[in-house]
Amino acid sequence: MPGIYIHIPFCKQACNYCDFHFSTSLTTKDAFLNALKKEIEVQKEYLKGDKISTIYFGGGTPSLLSESELMNIFETLEKHFVISPDAEITLEANPDDLTKEKIKQLKATPINRLSIGIQSFYDEDLKLMNRAHNAKEAITAVKAAQDSGFENITIDLIYGIQTLTNSHWKNNLTAAFDLEVKHISAYCLTVEPKTAMAHQVKMGQLKNVDEHQSAEQFEIMLDKMKKNNFIQYEISNFCKQGFYSKHNSNYWRKENYLGLGPSAHSYNGHSRQWNISNNPLYIQSLEKGKLNVEKEELTAEQKYNEYILTSLRTMWGTDLNYIEQTFGKEYSAHSLTEAEKYVETKKVLHQKNKLLLSDEGKLFADKIASDLFIIK
Ligand code: SF4
Repeated sequence: MPGIYIHIPFCKQACNYCDFHFSTSLTTKDAFLNALKKEIEVQKEYLKGDKISTIYFGGGTPSLLSESELMNIFETLEKHFVISPDAEITLEANPDDLTKEKIKQLKATPINRLSIGIQSFYDEDLKLMNRAHNAKEAITAVKAAQDSGFENITIDLIYGIQTLTNSHWKNNLTAAFDLEVKHISAYCLTVEPKTAMAHQVKMGQLKNVDEHQSAEQFEIMLDKMKKNNFIQYEISNFCKQGFYSKHNSNYWRKENYLGLGPSAHSYNGHSRQWNISNNPLYIQSLEKGKLNVEKEELTAEQKYNEYILTSLRTMWGTDLNYIEQTFGKEYSAHSLTEAEKYVETKKVLHQKNKLLLSDEGKLFADKIASDLFIIK
């Protein structure tokens, strides 16, 4: 069943590593919310009336929205879409927004899953990344959310941070396990071009990320997650049994989804489209009842490459039967031939007509996937 992603393009302050679309000026928030309502109406046929199984508020910082602003969005969604009664509805929240009062308000909405952006339990790391919260707020926020009855909580952590030692990374993982959250997304810090961090590195104010250290921290993570019964169902995503993110799993299974808000992407099985990454232009266009989007029809090669990129990263692996049935024998033969050298070095396991990354192979996931691509 398809999903809806809603991009809330505002943040209190800019984290220096972030290359998502957001603005730190909230002056256009009301106009954005009106435009979003309009977009929901304009896009009501995109998913062809199919029941919605997941809704995901991402950003930006969706926890900047009030209860009434969120309820307004839900009312508009319910007017134009059929939402499954057991839909997974996630809101990304920053710890500094999650006061007891705020959590109570969120609990009064249909939101049933919180994704809390903790990143690290060390203030020095948070300062380096220019996060708006501190470590104490992170712990308080998770506990307050649990006390208010949010059972399905995921937290984000980042490793490979220049100030993060291996022993601090171990402690961060232990702190996450102690909080008894059901899902952890852990990302390796990368210095993206055009970010403040890239500028700091270029100016010599900050050292670059140490790839060797990142790889060590990845291995530490796999070991500790296994020992604590977290299932690695995707390279960066770990959960307790039964707490897979339905929304992310839908992306990886190539379900259709509708993206709303500036910069959001949509996919309907044969084409992909994305909204303009500019708040004023997004608003202006929807004020006239029009979308400001770019669209591309996907070729068979693009669809195959995307399938390789996403499936290889998951514990379900790349299904050669699926490739043969969907794209033809030529494609499945290509994947197998290109995977051979990695099967020989045990970076890829070939089991029951599936290609799966070994723990060592996970370190080279992007390279292995790109070698399996078909570029015409
Ligand atoms: S809060 Fe999230 S979206 Fe906003 S700047 Fe920080 S990382 Fe980026």
